[in-house]
Amino acid sequence: MKTAQRIYREPEGHWVGDGFPVRTVLDYQRHPEVSPFILLDHFGPADFLPAEKPRGVGWHPHRGFETVTVLMEGEVEHEDTAGNGGRIGPGDVQWMTAGAGLLHKEFHSRAFTRRGGRFHGLQLWVNLPARHKMTPPRYQTLRAADIPVVDGVRVIAGEFQGRKGPAQTFTPITLLEIRLRAKESVHVPLAEADSAALYLVQGKLSVASERELVILSRSGADFVLEAETDAIVFVMSGTPLGEPVAGYGPFVMNTPREIQQAFADYQAGRLGTIPTTEKTS
Ligand code: MN
Repeated sequence: MKTAQRIYREPEGHWVGDGFPVRTVLDYQRHPEVSPFILLDHFGPADFLPAEKPRGVGWHPHRGFETVTVLMEGEVEHEDTAGNGGRIGPGDVQWMTAGAGLLHKEFHSRAFTRRGGRFHGLQLWVNLPARHKMTPPRYQTLRAADIPVVDGVRVIAGEFQGRKGPAQTFTPITLLEIRLRAKESVHVPLAEADSAALYLVQGKLSVASERELVILSRSGADFVLEAETDAIVFVMSGTPLGEPVAGYGPFVMNTPREIQQAFADYQAGRLGTIPTTEKTS
């Protein structure tokens, strides 16, 4: 049985662009033990008034990892310089492999902007092993309808009770979004020696309160969640990479030299360039 090792409470909030009021729940500097996970941002729940101009974050680069956006409420539109794009709604997941590098932008959809309403979700950054950091960019839209649900457990990646999540990953990863009723409990099988953490999006568990991150021991092969109130829990587990991490802003590599190279490549336009139709706006 994995055990709760450490609990982190109520991180400070900040804005990403003008569309994402986030709290950074986890990051690789404070929580290196949860490799391969290097960042978790919880955005909202926040209510937006109807508007004309979509709110969000404009063109910016990434290299060396994957961004996974799990949307609970609202709509997000994405576009990147690798030629991928799409819109995700409640229950959908966008899994973007930045790999060797790209530029992208993330905005509230036009329809959501006009309508206004509640915006709520998570963005997880998954590190890539050194041998895959320069892989070509890839994009997966995981629709809510394609994500199996077993007893309130949504299987985004990995396996739960024989059902496999649709995400293709470079290293073994389990991502579960679990909805529990008050007094319910669920047994979550995980792998011995894998890193594991859970984030309580909403509600109260026996081990944690709302917006707390619980880091579990690597030893042990499972964990039992016990809900005291209705709860939404995000569970992440994976095989630790065991490689050095050097990061700066939107780049996460293995050495400072590779970070310098990422900045040089970005400035030279080798990660992609903003479409010319938008440069003046
Ligand atoms: Mn981004």
